[in-house]
Amino acid sequence: LDSIAEPITLDGGPTSGSVSIGIAVHGGKGGDSSQLLKNADAAMYASKLKGGGSFHFFEQDMQKEAEQRRRIQKMLETAIANNELSLQYQPIVTLANGQAQGCEALLRWQTSSGEALPPNVFIPIAEKSGQIMEIGQWVIERVCAQALQWHVQHRAWPNIAINISTRQLRTGEFREAFTREMQRNQIPMGVVDLELTETGVMENPDFVLAELHRLHDMGVRISIDDFGTGYSSLDYLRRLPLDFLKVDRSFTADIGKSPSAEELIRVMIAVAHTMGLKVIAEGVENDAQLDFLLQHGCDYGQGYLFGRPGSLLEAQSTSAASPPVSLAIV
Ligand code: C2E
Ligand code: MG
Ligand code: MG
Repeated sequence: LDSIAEPITLDGGPTSGSVSIGIAVHGGKGGDSSQLLKNADAAMYASKLKGGGSFHFFEQDMQKEAEQRRRIQKMLETAIANNELSLQYQPIVTLANGQAQGCEALLRWQTSSGEALPPNVFIPIAEKSGQIMEIGQWVIERVCAQALQWHVQHRAWPNIAINISTRQLRTGEFREAFTREMQRNQIPMGVVDLELTETGVMENPDFVLAELHRLHDMGVRISIDDFGTGYSSLDYLRRLPLDFLKVDRSFTADIGKSPSAEELIRVMIAVAHTMGLKVIAEGVENDAQLDFLLQHGCDYGQGYLFGRPGSLLEAQSTSAASPPVSLAIV
């Protein structure tokens, strides 16, 4: 770990890497080399989950988890062909008036055996196996088809943000597919936005930066998702072509409970605004949170208070039944 962390010179500048190590020890009770490698791989996965830069020894329940991952990966192979994936849409509202300004598309997977697997479970597996490319392609096609259908019915474009994994930006493939689908459906830029998690971006800073700039130059709006949970440097953040910063829902959940979380939200809003970004608070569940966010100048909100993930129609037509608390006070 120490050797890899040593700075090296690449393209004339200093850079450094990190590594996740998995260790499996042969117990001498038979077992073959391929099992030993699988065990080491499972242990490496545990290191990666801890954020990398660490080592782990193999333990027995890692094998169960590895088997579960392999099972999910196998089922994913036929998920698209079997029509098992779908999208739900959750409104993103302007806090000042409670009106939906757009929505976020969220993947749902109901396997043919009736099991509903959440994206937090299968997305990391699809990222690791590379299946995320095919899934991501399906998401773009589906969202573009829905946006066009919406336009035909309502004579207006919706606004839909899709989540993408940084893995999808490793080559220009995503950008090409995105452009192709947008053009094929004659969808103007600005209708479909992209969300990338802060952690994903920070793990792959260089190629992400270049590819995001290309997309942004085409007119695509970009959000940094789950902000506050990663380790962005302000300097790196400044170099990213961003439009929105989404404050992670763990901070919103602590409003009224943790003064330090509240202080951090205030700082995040101030930093984002200084950089010319709009702020979206995730996971807004109650009026006290809404009130705090409004008071501190947060622009948009998303969460169960405004609407749960559902149909595009529900998401796009969300409007608060009563005016937000703060407006009533002001
Ligand atoms: P995310 O992009 O941060 O999406 C928001 C998550 O918070 C969603 O979980 C949503 O259902 C949940 N949520 C929204 N409002 C509230 C609230 O008020 N309270 C609580 N407790 N939760 C709330 P979901 O749908 O399970 O998605 C989890 C994550 O999976 C997403 O987090 C996103 O990172 C990833 N994901 C979803 N769809 C896709 C996709 O198409 N592609 C990729 N690459 N990732 C996706
Ligand atoms: Mg998101
Ligand atoms: Mg998020």
